[in-house]
Amino acid sequence: LPVLAVIGRPNVGKSTLVNRILGRREAVVEDRPGVTRDRVTYEAEWAGRRFKLVDTGGWEQDVLGIDASVATQAEFAIEAADAVVFVVDAKVGATDTDEAVVKLLRKSGKPVVLCANKVDGPSGEADAAYLWSLGLGEPQPVSALHGRGTGDMLDEVLRVLPEAPADTFGAVLGGPRRVALIGRPNVGKSSLLNKVAGEDRVVVHDVAGTTRDPVDELIELGGRTWKFVDTAGIRRRVHLQEGADYYASLRTAAALEKAEVAVVLVDVSESISVQDLRIISMAVDAGRALVLAYNKWDTLDEERRFYLEREIERDLVQVQWAPRVNVSARTGRHMEKLVPAIETALAGWETRVPTGRLNSFLGEIVAAHPHPVRGGKQPRILFGTQAGTKPPRFVLFASGFLEAGYRRFVERRLREQFGFEGTPVHLSVRVRE
Ligand code: GDP
Repeated sequence: LPVLAVIGRPNVGKSTLVNRILGRREAVVEDRPGVTRDRVTYEAEWAGRRFKLVDTGGWEQDVLGIDASVATQAEFAIEAADAVVFVVDAKVGATDTDEAVVKLLRKSGKPVVLCANKVDGPSGEADAAYLWSLGLGEPQPVSALHGRGTGDMLDEVLRVLPEAPADTFGAVLGGPRRVALIGRPNVGKSSLLNKVAGEDRVVVHDVAGTTRDPVDELIELGGRTWKFVDTAGIRRRVHLQEGADYYASLRTAAALEKAEVAVVLVDVSESISVQDLRIISMAVDAGRALVLAYNKWDTLDEERRFYLEREIERDLVQVQWAPRVNVSARTGRHMEKLVPAIETALAGWETRVPTGRLNSFLGEIVAAHPHPVRGGKQPRILFGTQAGTKPPRFVLFASGFLEAGYRRFVERRLREQFGFEGTPVHLSVRVRE
């Protein structure tokens, strides 16, 4: 989906606007126990078109009050987006910070819709008109608080937002598979990239006509060409103090958006951290195939190895379906296992189970392991179908509400039966009376 970023200074009303745009349509939250849901992007829809909405509002808590950071924040958001809504407070007018952001927007060449917010009363229209001076075209007068003008503004957004990110062309045309190499800072992403890229690296600038900064690299591996997406974010090491985590997660979200499979690097020389888990959750939530690469294996001694395995058992049970490779970007250990792991994960991601096979399997489950009786009734799975792939999505029709525990049991059995190594599996249940 194309990505729309909403940017602007603190307090101009970004979050209110984002909530307006999402309305009741905010993406359905899935029942995936234990997975942290730390969203940076939402799925939104307007006039029948869907897009990703990047809300930069939440970042302010970490970058609070530092004007320079607003520009940095904007820079990252612009980088990740296909189009931008730039929110200015019409009551205040354009500030120096706004002017600085305008420069960034111009440089990026990305389509921009200028949102003149807080146009609540009759004098507001005149305030909005002053913003012509920013040179970003017609200001869209909006009152995010009251909802006024947001529809017209969104119409304008749809006019400039590309139908799909430039990069999905590759997928449509059956181009190279797209890999996102992600992980927290210093896990060894750039070392690993250098190791696998060797001399064969080709840096691909995006399709002509777009000025997307993050470049992708085509890398020859295991007899195939792979596209490692957004490697500029890996190679250009940006050190930020405040808010660095947010920028890092924006980068990760942007890479995931473009990729089919995520290779998450974990540094085994340190304990598995909350940040590692968050990145893994982002990949799972984005519905990408997943490979876990345990890097810096050369640093392990007996004792650390022992604790590492305990940590994996404790923290990563949710993703025990992901293929695992123990590598060292430094020594090159097990590099050759990376491609088979990626291929396994992609195969699971694309698996389609024929309806007949699925239903005979479901029939066996219902017979051998019926749902517990609740309130005198026993819900049964009546029928199931695979609604989609990439990742596999199943819809089960049942005669009553299925408990979470039972749904997990069915998912586990599905995995045992049909593989699905390296892919999240979505299961939704519809109750038929
Ligand atoms: P990035 O921030 O994820 O791109 O991490 P870098 O690739 O810059 O690596 C961070 C540090 O870890 C550097 O000092 C690397 O030399 C080191 N490093 C990366 N991979 C390995 C590895 O496999 N073994 C060891 N011992 N050090 C590594």
